[in-house]
Amino acid sequence: MAQLFVISAPSGTGKTSLIQKVLDEEEASKTKLGVSCTTREKRKNEEEGVAYFFLDKEEFNQKINEGNFLEYAKVFGNLYGTPKEWVVSTISQGFDVILELDVQGAMQVKSAYPDAKTIFIIPPSYEDLKNRLFKRGQDSEETIKKRLSEAKQEVISGKDFDYLITNDDFDLAFIDLKYAMYSNADINKGRKELTKKCLSHLLDQSSSLH
Ligand code: 5GP
Repeated sequence: MAQLFVISAPSGTGKTSLIQKVLDEEEASKTKLGVSCTTREKRKNEEEGVAYFFLDKEEFNQKINEGNFLEYAKVFGNLYGTPKEWVVSTISQGFDVILELDVQGAMQVKSAYPDAKTIFIIPPSYEDLKNRLFKRGQDSEETIKKRLSEAKQEVISGKDFDYLITNDDFDLAFIDLKYAMYSNADINKGRKELTKKCLSHLLDQSSSLH
């Protein structure tokens, strides 16, 4: 039976790179990555229909009204939605599907498809995440502050996903992700312990927000 994977992570955690690496693996030969619709501006290096289908607000709202989305959500002020028909037909053709969604979208998909495997990737600490966002050089200091505060909220929701993975080290996180997706066995015990510790630390800092 084809599997639906939903992968979320705070912005800057390295989710996209990890997913791309998994897709190059033998195990992923029957796995396809979903392409979402968004109202966000196209970035310089992005192609229509590859990273996203770029729509204006009116087109997006029309798709909502026509019931074309499996889920949709507002993320950082823009709308994002998963085309329902593509997911349903791809799975019925026997392909596994990865959806890379924010936590709201992930929870919507999980309630519609309880068999979906939800995977949440965490940074080892907010300090580490902040450094990565600065290094990426994509956002202003103001935006980085916003993304960090969003991250704190996302971790509160992400803690209940089926699998949690820490991206403290790209190669180790990649092995954990591949394992979570394609093996029915549990993730390495030592790695699970590490994730438990990091999560508890992140949650302490998230709760100090309120
Ligand atoms: P970005 O604009 O940086 O590509 O993505 C921003 C956030 O939106 C990321 O967390 C990404 O996973 C999420 N996202 C991308 N596509 C979708 C979608 O179709 N639905 C939802 N709910 N989130 C999405």
